[in-house]
Amino acid sequence: MSKKGATDGFREVSASGSHFQIGETLGKQCRDQAIRMEKQFKEAISAVPGWSVDKMISYSRKSLPLSKRFYPEYIEELEGYARGSGVKFEVLYAMSCDAPIGRGKGCTDLVANGEWTKDDCVYAAHNEDVSPGSINEITIARIKPKDEPGYLGMNYGGIWPTAGMNAAGISLTGNALVPNDTRQGIPKIIPCRKVLRETGIYQALMASMPEGRGHSFNNIVTDANGEIFSMEGSATTFDALYGEEGWLVHTNHYLSPRMWKFEENMHTRFSSIVRYNRAKKLFKKELGNVDIASFHRIFSDHVGYPESICRHPDAALAKDEQTRSIFSVVFNLTEKVAWVCYGNPCEGAYKKYEF
Ligand SMILES: [Zn+2]
Repeated sequence: MSKKGATDGFREVSASGSHFQIGETLGKQCRDQAIRMEKQFKEAISAVPGWSVDKMISYSRKSLPLSKRFYPEYIEELEGYARGSGVKFEVLYAMSCDAPIGRGKGCTDLVANGEWTKDDCVYAAHNEDVSPGSINEITIARIKPKDEPGYLGMNYGGIWPTAGMNAAGISLTGNALVPNDTRQGIPKIIPCRKVLRETGIYQALMASMPEGRGHSFNNIVTDANGEIFSMEGSATTFDALYGEEGWLVHTNHYLSPRMWKFEENMHTRFSSIVRYNRAKKLFKKELGNVDIASFHRIFSDHVGYPESICRHPDAALAKDEQTRSIFSVVFNLTEKVAWVCYGNPCEGAYKKYEF
């Protein structure tokens, strides 16, 4: 196993077998990331007034039965990961839950089906905008459970998928939202993982929005037929935005009028508004000729800098408030390949990864 330095691009890991075995393998290969993320999690939660690590653990424990009922196999992966990494399961599960910290910072997504692409393939693409330091915690993971199609994921610590595509041609990309109805329930990361086990769009949509969730991303679910759904969820409800024209753009605010009342504070969404409109305008010009270069151009855009589509740390903000595009990924669902750019798209190149 080689441990790549930060300048070499992302670490690649692979794991197969039972879900417990997968978790254990990932835990061993990503032990350093798990330990760093545990440390950051503990520091961050301790800094929130009224919260502590112990309080977060006991709070999160209450949603465990719901998570087990929804997708027990992922809990087994976390149990294996605890053994492999040496980080306690109760801490890992608390880290998986939606703590009152690290509110989703950004992300811009573009999807186009074969009607609009140069090679008639379906593409789902995503810029990951988070704390600059998080670049060290990403791995490109190839996961093949014995009872699922297997997926290629952009995973934090090898185990928490933020974007991925599976062998059945289903992708999960998406954006952080800040709903005002969060509650104790299934953490928002578990639906992301479960979508990547599904072989059809109907099952994948169900997996993306379980009843009893405590929070939600905007989960963009796309299949190789070119079905595109932007599942704008809050904790208690959702709207399914369909890519009726065969393409779709999403950032970090609710677009559906049905969901507007769940926006916690629209006054914090200016970057999202700029990125959404800018991406839509640029994408329209590419429609009919969309290829990897189109995504590279749009994801490198600096209008609205530094909180632009290609985001850079704002020197005027405190370090823990800063956001950077730490990677960009383009999934080709037709040919089942991923193109990944390490770091800001304006500075990097997209490299091809096969299953
Ligand atoms: Zn840039």
